[in-house]
Amino acid sequence: MLHIGCHLSASKGFEAMGRTALEIGADTFQFFTRNPRGSRAKDIDPQDVQALRQLLAEHHFAPLIAHAPYTLNPASADSKTREFARQTLADDLQRMEYLPGNLYNFHPGSHVGQGAEAGIRLIIDTLNEILTPDLHTTVLLETMAGKGSEIGRSFEELKQILDGVKENDKMGVCLDTCHVHDAGYSLAELDDTLTAFDKQIGLSRLKAVHLNDSLNPPGSHKDRHAPIGQGTIGTEVLAGAINHPALKHLPFCLETPNDLAGYAREIALMRRLYRP
Ligand code: FE
Ligand code: FE
Ligand code: ZN
Repeated sequence: MLHIGCHLSASKGFEAMGRTALEIGADTFQFFTRNPRGSRAKDIDPQDVQALRQLLAEHHFAPLIAHAPYTLNPASADSKTREFARQTLADDLQRMEYLPGNLYNFHPGSHVGQGAEAGIRLIIDTLNEILTPDLHTTVLLETMAGKGSEIGRSFEELKQILDGVKENDKMGVCLDTCHVHDAGYSLAELDDTLTAFDKQIGLSRLKAVHLNDSLNPPGSHKDRHAPIGQGTIGTEVLAGAINHPALKHLPFCLETPNDLAGYAREIALMRRLYRP
């Protein structure tokens, strides 16, 4: 069975996201842990989370993806920026304990001129400070398009981060189809790309896929998502991704520019194209 959902707004609470997911035919979803620009998080209502957990169990949802604010930068040269990232990530992981067994995805960061090696070192240090053996969440590094000085534009960079983290079994990777395409990996030749991933990182580390088309050509390092079939990747190649033997068991999450009706259509389309 295909596990697929989309990014949902958390503004009406946890249970409301679960109900919305069911309405649009999803059995997983992604949400921001707080305002995507990184401000304070709302207090968690334990009853609301409990109601969501019950709904997820009843309807056999695949793991959910919580997404960190994308403005965090644990690779910054500025110690205040790094400290803010560390505190926010640590706080998010504490909050994730209300939803044990799910995924927490973040953008590794940007080295802003210090060089990737220095940035990678700082990301490792942050992860080693915040990951503790008692956490019940898998933390995912997202594959990045390589816009500006973004770290995570290659499988090698992600591997270097993973290698440095002590609580290694708490770490995984989320593959974003738009980002890897924009980074220069071919989705049309998905076997080759996944072989490269397996050699560097190991396919067992891959825990989720962001399913997006791209507005830009391969290797453009842009990161602009397009609706399924309206970009340079195309429906056929994305259908190849959901059906690939190394991927087809994973949760797929749409982050395409869409309203809920558009997401419902894309989910239905992908379910039609899935070969069980
Ligand atoms: Fe992301
Ligand atoms: Fe993404
Ligand atoms: Zn993106």
